[in-house]
Amino acid sequence: MADSLIVAFGEMLIDFVPDTAGVSLAESTGFLKAPGGAPANVACAISKLGGKAAFVGKVGDDEFGHMLINILKKNGVNTEGVCVDAHARTALAFVTLRKDGEREFMFYRNPSADMLLKESELNMGLIKQAKIFHYGSISLISEPCKSAHMAAMKAAKDAGILLSYDPNVRLPLWPSADAARDGIKSIWNQADFIKVSDDEVQFLTQGDPDKEEVVLSLWHDNLKLLVVTDGEKGCRYFTKKFKGNVTGFSVKAVDTTGAGDAFVGSFLLSMAKDMSIFEDEAKLKEALSFANACGAICTTQKGAIPALPAVSDALELIKS
Ligand code: ADP
Repeated sequence: MADSLIVAFGEMLIDFVPDTAGVSLAESTGFLKAPGGAPANVACAISKLGGKAAFVGKVGDDEFGHMLINILKKNGVNTEGVCVDAHARTALAFVTLRKDGEREFMFYRNPSADMLLKESELNMGLIKQAKIFHYGSISLISEPCKSAHMAAMKAAKDAGILLSYDPNVRLPLWPSADAARDGIKSIWNQADFIKVSDDEVQFLTQGDPDKEEVVLSLWHDNLKLLVVTDGEKGCRYFTKKFKGNVTGFSVKAVDTTGAGDAFVGSFLLSMAKDMSIFEDEAKLKEALSFANACGAICTTQKGAIPALPAVSDALELIKS
């Protein structure tokens, strides 16, 4: 087993990001074609920080699909698990940037190539080499990708690989809010590590995410660590033995796309290097602070992958 490989599974797409905050893409004078898709962002984040990452997913045989594969390669991500669909188009997302740097999405998925990944196309050899297998929930929305997701997750679990889950709710993609909640909860108990945002806690529980008992209603017995992120405030952590919070960094946010993925990628890399992080609160807090720095830096530039930090960027922010 190549002991530090992290495999990220799921969607990969192009974000069209307007060049002006506070307007929709239609009203903007120009836009950036930014590569993204949460699991692909996570793989790039790990690689940019010097870790070993592979991405498993599917793109279309079009300009955008080839652009995405090249971007993964340029960022040092292993692409042996990326399939190209001869008929379907690569997924696209049209972003509206609000003045506070938060973003809203509209998606082109008709269905897009990423949702057409089949179980028979999975590179199981690659998946089984991982130390950590990371995934989201968009790949659960429809077949055949749902079966591919379940098969990949099972193979990883059977091989004793640590499962990392960021549900990354993107409501417009699901048939309904209830379908999203059910889909997310259907794989909830499999994961060893889960990262959710405050908003997702509220969405999943319909309770107040600031209340500890609300967050803890999401706890399950097999879970080693639950992390709840809350934008510039940083994050809270919950393990079987301890809980607490780690304050975030103050930066001038221009686009928060990918912040959660930069956070997760950096944290998974710390985890892959030292699994005792679950038992050692000081190590955990240090890794979460580093993840906060990576998330913060990602908000200071437009797009997701282009805004991901290197280790030196994060260390500089932590020292400042
Ligand atoms: P997601 O991107 O998944 O919705 P968050 O918005 O909570 O999740 O962001 C993830 C992490 O990125 C936060 O915990 C924080 O460390 C960092 N972050 C996000 N937004 C900001 C911001 N405006 N300023 C500083 N750090 C931020």
